[in-house]
Amino acid sequence: MAEFSLALNEDQITVRDWVHGFAVNVMRPVAQEWDEREETPWPVIEEAARVGIYSLDFFANAIADPSGITMVLALEELSWGDAGLCMSIMGSTLAIAAIMANGTPAQQAEWIPACFGTPDDVKVSAFGVSEPDAGSDVSSLRTRAVYDEAKDEWVLNGTKTWMTNGGIASVHVIVASVDPELGSRGQASFVIPEGTPGIRMGQKFKKMGIRASHTAEVVLEECRVPGSCLLGGKEKLDEKLARAREGVKTSGQAAMATFEATRPYVGSQAVGIARAAYEYALDYAKERRQFGKAIIENQAIAFKLADMKTRIDASRMLVWRAAWMAANHQPFLNGEGSQSKLYASETAVHVTEEAIQILGGYGYVRDYPVERWHRDSKIYTIFEGTSEIQRLIISRAISGVHIR
Ligand SMILES: Cc1cc2nc3c(=O)[nH]c(=O)nc-3n(C[C@H](O)[C@H](O)[C@H](O)COP(=O)(O)OP(=O)(O)OC[C@H]3O[C@@H](n4cnc5c(N)ncnc54)[C@H](O)[C@@H]3O)c2cc1C
Repeated sequence: MAEFSLALNEDQITVRDWVHGFAVNVMRPVAQEWDEREETPWPVIEEAARVGIYSLDFFANAIADPSGITMVLALEELSWGDAGLCMSIMGSTLAIAAIMANGTPAQQAEWIPACFGTPDDVKVSAFGVSEPDAGSDVSSLRTRAVYDEAKDEWVLNGTKTWMTNGGIASVHVIVASVDPELGSRGQASFVIPEGTPGIRMGQKFKKMGIRASHTAEVVLEECRVPGSCLLGGKEKLDEKLARAREGVKTSGQAAMATFEATRPYVGSQAVGIARAAYEYALDYAKERRQFGKAIIENQAIAFKLADMKTRIDASRMLVWRAAWMAANHQPFLNGEGSQSKLYASETAVHVTEEAIQILGGYGYVRDYPVERWHRDSKIYTIFEGTSEIQRLIISRAISGVHIR
């Protein structure tokens, strides 16, 4: 284990500055346009693939950093560039993380590159858990997967909702119930390869924020995939189901550790938006003059900025701690991953609202980016586990009590 230091090493600084350059030169100039268009920004994703930010190489190198920091540094910079564009570039990582966590080595080798495509033929991927009647309560999924033994195929039926990249992805990873009586222990994940009949996009949602990121329903009707598309394989699933049916208690630690490990990725994006708004508001407060002086000369404004900066830095520290813990396989005994996501997301909402206040009327109109950052920030308290669910996880972890 490395000795304690918060100093970034040369590689980390290089990655951070490189991604920051991409955010400044490629993302910022087109952020407002793609927000208004509410379409998938393929040219931006293609450019990210061309320079190597959206690539298996970058992803593999970033998560290989033993300190855990490289990925969260990159995500903060991309989200500082624009959260909607960031989600368009990085939304695929949900499916990739699911394949990494659950797939066999052969499945990982086959499907992870397919999620990215190539710089000449860029692809995105999508991960579907949420359903119209199963959001926070993922144990109640209705999407069913039934095994057709004669053909060695799985048949999926159901409706997924809120899927980032749903219907436009080359690889969809779908979580479905194979034995509804077992709740979440009766679920499995399936890869739906591109061109599979029986999967289609339902409605595409018109959102408040991160509007460059595509979010849609996905409908599965008699969707058949080969047996090899069950992540982890049939033998492992059968063993898991047998244990669940015998009532053998599993701690759920493995699944929880996976979620806790990816939460700082979400938190770091919230930090990026908050930092963008804070920097903008700080510059503005020094420039804007009312009553014969810069508005920052009023404590009411200066103290807002002091609080904004403090909360952003505290959020980043929580994100870095959780990312370091994940990389160093530390147990999240106090829900540290959830703490990072909870605090950073609520900070982003707070800081972007304060930034609007500091800009006054100019903060409220689309000629300035601050209202967009506020709209973008709100999703971070909702997806990947709402703030309430994060508090549930943290309070259960610290108390050992099954808080409801
Ligand atoms: C833009 C966007 C992108 C998304 N991308 C994806 C994706 O790619 N893949 C995917 O699978 N999902 C995705 N989601 C879904 C997202 O994860 C869910 O919206 C989220 O989990 C909440 O579920 P819900 O919307 O059904 O809300 P509900 O679960 O119905 O919650 C409603 C309210 O009740 C509260 N609540 C619920 N249960 C409890 C409880 N036990 N205690 C206290 N409060 C509670 C919640 O915190 C919330 O405030 C996305 C959503 C959006 C909006």
